[in-house]
Amino acid sequence: MTDSGPMLVAALALAAEGYPVFLLGRSKRPVANCPACPKVDTNHDPATCGHLTCHGFYAATRDPDRITAMHAAVARGLLAIRTGQLCDLAVVDIDPRNGGRVLPELMPPTRCVRTGSGGWHLYYRHPGGTLAAKLHGHPGIDIKADGGYVVAPPSIHPGTGQPYRRVGDRPVNEMPPPLVAVCRPIAPPDAPAATVTPLTPGRGISSPAALLAAHLDAVARAPEGRRRNVLYGAARGVARMVAAGALTAPDAHAALYAAGRQAGQSDRDTRAAITGGFHAESVATEGIAA
Ligand SMILES: [Zn+2]
Ligand SMILES: [Zn+2]
Repeated sequence: MTDSGPMLVAALALAAEGYPVFLLGRSKRPVANCPACPKVDTNHDPATCGHLTCHGFYAATRDPDRITAMHAAVARGLLAIRTGQLCDLAVVDIDPRNGGRVLPELMPPTRCVRTGSGGWHLYYRHPGGTLAAKLHGHPGIDIKADGGYVVAPPSIHPGTGQPYRRVGDRPVNEMPPPLVAVCRPIAPPDAPAATVTPLTPGRGISSPAALLAAHLDAVARAPEGRRRNVLYGAARGVARMVAAGALTAPDAHAALYAAGRQAGQSDRDTRAAITGGFHAESVATEGIAA
């Protein structure tokens, strides 16, 4: 057993969990293609190439024999996990050097990795559909999904010499709707804008306008049949904003009614969602409109 034994053990464990893995070079860059694989060739499909270490994340596999061979071929490489719908994995990549931070109101606990550069990787199940490369309105937070990968423990960051390490032992959880909403690509300008009412920063909420927009957007995007549940979830989220002083109750109600109507919900259903959601968060609903 060499000193890179733990890397192989970690790679095989991730693969057994269902995550396709591959190895980056020591520099944290993908390994160079072999001479038979041209960098640019429209007739060459990286997804079906089949070479052990060519084409970056396309080489990712769950096959233990291939992983073992790859580990032998890429001496002291960094372990990486392919992300995206194919792998049911979307990773929120928080880089404090660029102003990123964990936003507890948007990001519930899930599997977490402390990166070798002092950041955080939050692993979530992929919600389906297209995700943006960056979390809107939040500098220093990227989203790794289709066409991406993340460096995994126990890799050592080549720049800092620090390891990537798992923090806690939480499972990979689902993204809640407000997080999914801010991970979506920004809507084209002609899409109906969410109703954003005047807001003041509240306790523990860094950008109330973005958070409210995310809750309302989740309602707008909820599939038929799930709308009532999503509206209730949004009402709870908005109630917490009211409790934090980020939004007045009348403004919260007005925004939720507008979102409910836009999603084809009756005012009666919206009123029930607001009453239930606010009650669940112990926030008063006196003077509730409509
Ligand atoms: Zn090749
Ligand atoms: Zn190839």
